[in-house]
Amino acid sequence: MRPIETIGEMRVGVVGAGISGLSLVHALADRDVDVVGFEARAEPGGIMRSRRVDGRTVELGPQRLRLTPGLESMVTDLGLEDRLRTGDDDQPIYIYHDESLHVAPLSVREALTTDLLSLRGKLRILLEPLYGPPKPDETVDEYLTRKFGRQAARRYLGPLYSGLYGTHPDDMLVEYSLGRALEKAGIDRSVLLWVARKLLSGRETPPIVTFEDGLGELSTALYEAHSDAVRLETPVESIHETDDGYELRTPEDSERVDEVVLTTPAETCADLLEPVDADLESVLRRFTYNPIGMVYLDSGFDGEGIGTLVPPGSDVRISGLTWNASFLGRERLYTCYVDPGTYPEMESSTDEELGDVAAAEFERITGASATPIHVHRWDPGMPAYDRSWTAMDDLEPPAGVHFCTNFVDRPGIPGRIRSARRLADELADRSTGK
Ligand SMILES: Cc1cc2nc3c(=O)[nH]c(=O)nc-3n(C[C@H](O)[C@H](O)[C@H](O)COP(=O)(O)OP(=O)(O)OC[C@H]3O[C@@H](n4cnc5c(N)ncnc54)[C@H](O)[C@@H]3O)c2cc1C
Repeated sequence: MRPIETIGEMRVGVVGAGISGLSLVHALADRDVDVVGFEARAEPGGIMRSRRVDGRTVELGPQRLRLTPGLESMVTDLGLEDRLRTGDDDQPIYIYHDESLHVAPLSVREALTTDLLSLRGKLRILLEPLYGPPKPDETVDEYLTRKFGRQAARRYLGPLYSGLYGTHPDDMLVEYSLGRALEKAGIDRSVLLWVARKLLSGRETPPIVTFEDGLGELSTALYEAHSDAVRLETPVESIHETDDGYELRTPEDSERVDEVVLTTPAETCADLLEPVDADLESVLRRFTYNPIGMVYLDSGFDGEGIGTLVPPGSDVRISGLTWNASFLGRERLYTCYVDPGTYPEMESSTDEELGDVAAAEFERITGASATPIHVHRWDPGMPAYDRSWTAMDDLEPPAGVHFCTNFVDRPGIPGRIRSARRLADELADRSTGK
C-alpha cells in the first residue's frame, strides 16, 4: 500500500462523465489540478441526457432541477443563462388515493385545503415535535408514522421520499436513507420546527428550472468546456495499483494517475476495483439498485400540476407521472414511471406493452387518453437505499481511491455538484500539500 500523502504534481483520473464526473472535472480544472476523465458512452451526461422525439424534448433521467447557488454558478461559468427555462413551482403535486387525485400538502395553504387527510390526520401532524429523532433499526415507514401519524406517513410523506428510489418505505432503514438526508439538511429533532424556521426566515426555495433543449444541455456544455480532458467512448476496463499511484486500463492503452475517482454505479465500481482490493469489491456488490422504465406520453390532458405520485399498495401499475406539459410548458408531454414494484412484468415486457400499460394507467388517473411516443429503461436505475445500504459501514476505499457517486452521497443533481466540489477542494489541497 502506498502512503496517503501525494504531494507535488498530481494527476487525477475520473471514471465516468455523468454529472458527477463532469462537475468534478470542471471543479478540478478550476483549481488547476491536472485531470483526465473517461466515459464509456459516445455521449456525455450519464443519466442526465435529453432526446428529441417527435419534435419534443424528452428527459431520459431528471426532468427538472432546483437552481441552487452551486448550479447557478455553474450555469454562469458555462454562459448558459439565456438557455434557462423556469418552471412554475406554484403548481401542486397530486397523490392518487382512493381512485382520485388529491393535492399533496406541501405548503401551509395546501395543508389547510387538501382533502387527502382528515382533520384528525392534519392535527396529528402538529404533534410531530413531541416525538424524538430516528431510532436505531427504525424503517422510514416506522419513523414517519411515529412522527406524523399513519395517515400522513402512508398517504404522502413515505411515498414522496421512497418514490424517488422505487423502494417501499418498509424496506428503507432510516439511518441509511432519510436520516442521512435530514442530518445533511441540519434537521436534528423536529422536521416541523425546521420548516417553520425556514418559512419565518423568508428564505426562498430556489426556482425549478430546465434548459430550452433539456437538462442534457448542461451535460453537453460541461463536456465541451473540458473536451480536451474527457475521453468519450473510452471505458475503463480495470484499475491497478502501482508503486506510486494507479493505472487505469482502457481498450486502447492505459493511464497512470495519482488519485482515482469513481462516479459509476456500485457494480461497475466493484468490477473495476477487483484487482485493487477484493474485500472492497465484495462490499460494493452488496448495494442494490431498482430498474426504472420511463414512458413518454402525448396527451391533451390540461390539468395544472407538477405531477402525480401513486403510493405503494394500490393496484395501479405505475409509480408516478411528471406533468411536463403543465409546469414546464413542454407541449402535450407527460412522463410516466414504471418499476418492478408496481408492475412485476416490467422487465419481461416489450416497449410496446410498457407503453400500453402507462397509457392505460394515465387515462385511469387523469381521465384523459394518451399515446406512448418513446420508452427508455434504466438498469441499474436509482440506488435503492434499502437494507443493503448497511454496506456503507464496511466501505473503506484504499488511499487514493475516491467515490463521488450517487450511492454514497445525495443522488440529486445539486447534491452531486456539491460533492464534486467538496472532493475537488480536498484533492486540490492535497496537490498543494496543504
Ligand atoms: C430516472 C431517474 C430520474 C431522476 N430524476 C431526478 C430529478 O428529477 N432530480 C434530481 O436531482 N435527480 C434525479 N435523479 C438522480 C440523478 O439523475 C442521478 O443521481 C445523477 O444523474 C447521477 O449522476 P452520476 O454522474 O453520479 O452517475 P451517472 O449519470 O450514472 O454517470 C456515470 C457515468 O459513468 C459511465 N461509465 C460507466 N461505466 C464506465 C466505465 N467502465 N468507464 C468509463 N465510464 C463509465 C456511464 O456511461 C455514465 O455516463 C434521477 C435519476 C433517475 C435514474
